Amino acid sequence: MDEKDCIFCKIVRKEMDSKVVYEDDEVFAFEDINGRAPVHVLVVPRQHVANLEEIGELPDAVAKHLFEVASTVAEQLGVTEGGYAVRINNGRDAGQEVFHLHLHVIGGKKLGMP
Ligand code: 5GP
Ligand code: ZN
Repeated sequence: MDEKDCIFCKIVRKEMDSKVVYEDDEVFAFEDINGRAPVHVLVVPRQHVANLEEIGELPDAVAKHLFEVASTVAEQLGVTEGGYAVRINNGRDAGQEVFHLHLHVIGGKKLGMP
């Protein structure tokens, strides 16, 4: 799937609605449509890369900034103190559904490993 058909590219370009939590020139964060916890936000680079195998296509500063935004979002939504998980589902066995790299920021309840 290329950028043209990618739903997260459409969300970033605001051609599709989402509940925006944070945005800047490089990174965009929005609520997961099927949140599995009180806080469940997806943090994506504006630039389309499918998965971790393509992360080298992002400028280093953007790759780092994804994690900074995950932390910013956690702070904004009040889960820094309680803690939260940052998760990437990468590929089939991990259940990746959308092939635009994204961090899940999940919190607001006790979390376990799968
Ligand atoms: P993953 O690819 O990491 O397994 O999961 C993709 C995530 O994107 C899922 O948690 C799913 O609920 C979310 N998602 C899929 N389509 C949409 C959408 O159109 N809008 C939003 N906000 N989230 C979506
Ligand atoms: Zn995309």
